[in-house]
Amino acid sequence: MFTPAELLEINTLLIPENKIVILTHYNPDGDAIGSSLGLKHYLHAKGIEAEVITPNDFPKFLKWMPEAKKNIVAEYKRKIASDLIRDADVIFCLDFNSPSRIGILGDWLTRAKAKKILIDHHQQPEPFDFVYSDTVIPATCQMIYHFIEAMGDENLVNKEIAECLYTGIMTDTGGFRFRSTSAATHRIVANLIEKGADPSIITSNTWDTNTVSRLHLLALILGRIEVVNDGKAAILYLTRKELKEYGFQKGDTEGFVNYGLSIIGVKMAAFFMEDLYEDFIKISFRSKDDVDVNQFSRKYFNGGGHINAAGGKSDETLEETIRTFTQRLAEENM
Ligand code: 5GP
Ligand code: MN
Repeated sequence: MFTPAELLEINTLLIPENKIVILTHYNPDGDAIGSSLGLKHYLHAKGIEAEVITPNDFPKFLKWMPEAKKNIVAEYKRKIASDLIRDADVIFCLDFNSPSRIGILGDWLTRAKAKKILIDHHQQPEPFDFVYSDTVIPATCQMIYHFIEAMGDENLVNKEIAECLYTGIMTDTGGFRFRSTSAATHRIVANLIEKGADPSIITSNTWDTNTVSRLHLLALILGRIEVVNDGKAAILYLTRKELKEYGFQKGDTEGFVNYGLSIIGVKMAAFFMEDLYEDFIKISFRSKDDVDVNQFSRKYFNGGGHINAAGGKSDETLEETIRTFTQRLAEENM
């Protein structure tokens, strides 16, 4: 948590006269959107308005969250987004910890004169004016709740805040399954339910939303899942041609990589996907136990994240990327 002195200083910054912006990472997920909107609703409950800016668009299954549709998507509203960042007095940076994770917004953020407040749970944060970083907490949404508590404002948590924070905790813990899910997580979730978050409605809004294109893509990749490295690693992939052929929509491949990790004996799964427009491969890594995909992705694939969930990129072709990946695995003895 921020120190008591930092909390006092942050408190002096959170006034209606100040322009406040909330930023989150590229390809926002449930935790990114949930923490951003949860914080926005909390500030609103304090009588302070804030704008949420995302670098690019986010999936439909996250747009049910209160005011999600008011988010400013920088890829569509570049000028508005860059002006807001330039003129902001305070910028909250949520669920990412390096300007390189927010695309074009990274340069704008670096140049901005605002006080920059980081709240994030990824490994190896870069410097910000105020840093609340904890890699043991499963979701940034949980950290927003801790922040609200530390500000002495738990009584302000309302239905909107609760729904947003519940969603991010649910998605980033894989439905309360992943290792970092703790008793504290469940206590907070219990509080959020009491404040109006409905687990069955939120689950159904977020997860019972398969598109036909998603199910077809899933069938395709499951049909050719490959296990390498003495059964310890699973590989999944999709080509641009396939994405087009099956009518890919944003969010369709969310969670696919987990099927690789569910195979008996597999300690690490990698999902490679050709970008729809540009010549690079986006990679998702997931792992079990002490297999550290954050380090692996940082070292070889220009990425990062958490020990058991990370992402990266490659400028090689799909085939070359998968070959490189298999070689690096063997070299690292993973
Ligand atoms: P996903 O595989 O779901 O895209 O990402 C898994 C985790 O790694 C998320 O917490 C995400 O924020 C992080 N991540 C994904 N891609 C990158 C990347 O290119 N660089 C870094 N540093 N983190 C990433
Ligand atoms: Mn997160």
